Amino acid sequence: MVFANAKEFKEAVKWHFVNHCRSYKFKINYWYKVKAVCKAEPCLWSVYASSNDLSDKHSPLHVKTLVPNHTCGTDENNTSVTSTWVAERYAGDLSINPKMDVKTMKAMVRKDCMAQISRWKASRARSIVNEKFEGSYQEQYSKYLEIIVKSLRGPIMEP
Ligand SMILES: [Zn+2]
Repeated sequence: MVFANAKEFKEAVKWHFVNHCRSYKFKINYWYKVKAVCKAEPCLWSVYASSNDLSDKHSPLHVKTLVPNHTCGTDENNTSVTSTWVAERYAGDLSINPKMDVKTMKAMVRKDCMAQISRWKASRARSIVNEKFEGSYQEQYSKYLEIIVKSLRGPIMEP
């Protein structure tokens, strides 16, 4: 699997984690090599990609190793599910329906991630999206869709 650059690779990693209700961190993070791991230790999920041509800053990143299965579980008090996380995960839904009630949001998070969130967290996430999307809604939303479509195409999206 090939990505145009580190930025694109990192966005795919990000969306994998957003969609799997988990958090990640970059253990190696340079333009020519990036390694991401699941934050839930000792989960074995990891991906490593690097360039084959260090002399060319525009060379693509090739995925060299991938451990695609999470050995971590999702739990009720998933600390990855912060209000920022909820805002990112449901940016699409919230920008279409900016007044979505917190009860609906809580139910969505419960269904998708088996996680409980407080009313405060839900309403905070809603404000984050509303503030972010104000004014540049159209542009942001199409960018968001583009990232989703791109990440859905990549094999690292397989659970
Ligand atoms: Zn994991």
